[in-house]
Amino acid sequence: MDFVHESVALGVDLLILGLCVREYVNLKRTAVVLKSAPQYNIDAELKTIVEKQRDKKIPYAVIRGTVTPIGVPLRSALVPSVSGVLQVVKLNEHRITRGFAGFWTEHHKLIHESANDMPFELRNQDYAVEIVDALSAAVLDTDVVYDNYEPSSLSFFDHVFGFFTGVRQKGLQTTEQVLRDGSFITAIGELEVDGQSLRMQPSKTGPLFLTTATKSTLIKRFEDAKSSLLFKIVVCSTVSVIIMGLIARKLYRKKKQLREEAKIRNRLDTERRERRARNRPHVLSQDQLCVVCSTNPKEIILLPCGHVCLCEDCATKIEVTCPVCRAKIESKAAAFIA
Ligand SMILES: [Zn+2]
Ligand SMILES: [Zn+2]
Repeated sequence: MDFVHESVALGVDLLILGLCVREYVNLKRTAVVLKSAPQYNIDAELKTIVEKQRDKKIPYAVIRGTVTPIGVPLRSALVPSVSGVLQVVKLNEHRITRGFAGFWTEHHKLIHESANDMPFELRNQDYAVEIVDALSAAVLDTDVVYDNYEPSSLSFFDHVFGFFTGVRQKGLQTTEQVLRDGSFITAIGELEVDGQSLRMQPSKTGPLFLTTATKSTLIKRFEDAKSSLLFKIVVCSTVSVIIMGLIARKLYRKKKQLREEAKIRNRLDTERRERRARNRPHVLSQDQLCVVCSTNPKEIILLPCGHVCLCEDCATKIEVTCPVCRAKIESKAAAFIA
């Protein structure tokens, strides 16, 4: 496992790269559908326009109007003077945790979220479009009407406990966001005639937007996000290429090293064989010669059969069965015949 670090780094980098590419593709698709979405005024003609479309709906349209509750508006749970059509209350725990190197870093953790909404419409004088399923909007611009941070008072025991577990609570943050009635917003989604009224709902073409930004600002935001993602993609790809280069270099060096080692081993083997050949007795009777090459003396005992029938050179080539009795060779040893 010579490449553990490089492989882990490459894996993490490719994962980030994959996520960035996916995000980029999503952003690009949204930017394209957003650009091609037609914008309509909420007026007397809008209903006629939508009715003329297939299925009496426009798959992705942009409208702008004033948020108007249908019925009594919601009261903010934490700031009673504020009213709106949609509220989200979040409780976040701020905690510090001890990281790898022993440093304490701060984190947020959402521990409770509650959302409330009521029917509302976007109105322009006498004409209106009802907004359906506003909470599912991908972008939902709301006002933060309440934001309170309560630091925790930790006891001695909490400190000791935190020291050992590596997690310490710092405080609790409560926020409330409200889509106020009377705010002027842009809504982008599927526009449909439903009986007598018009409504806008989540679309299959693109995400639902309820935002204070105009269509062009929204497109610009998407373009900016796209360029920053593109930068990240370039950085991640470069890092991948560098890591792959490092792995390739390491592989090449390893191979080269193995080749050199084999070369040295071969040379030593040859030298040893030559040395042995020089030292061998030159006059041998037939039964003292190796049964395979009939040149060198018998030097190796095969086990378990016990036959001494091979020279050292031939013994390196014969590995499976004894050439005399065909018994399986389990081990070999040098034989010294005195
Ligand atoms: Zn031999
Ligand atoms: Zn044998």
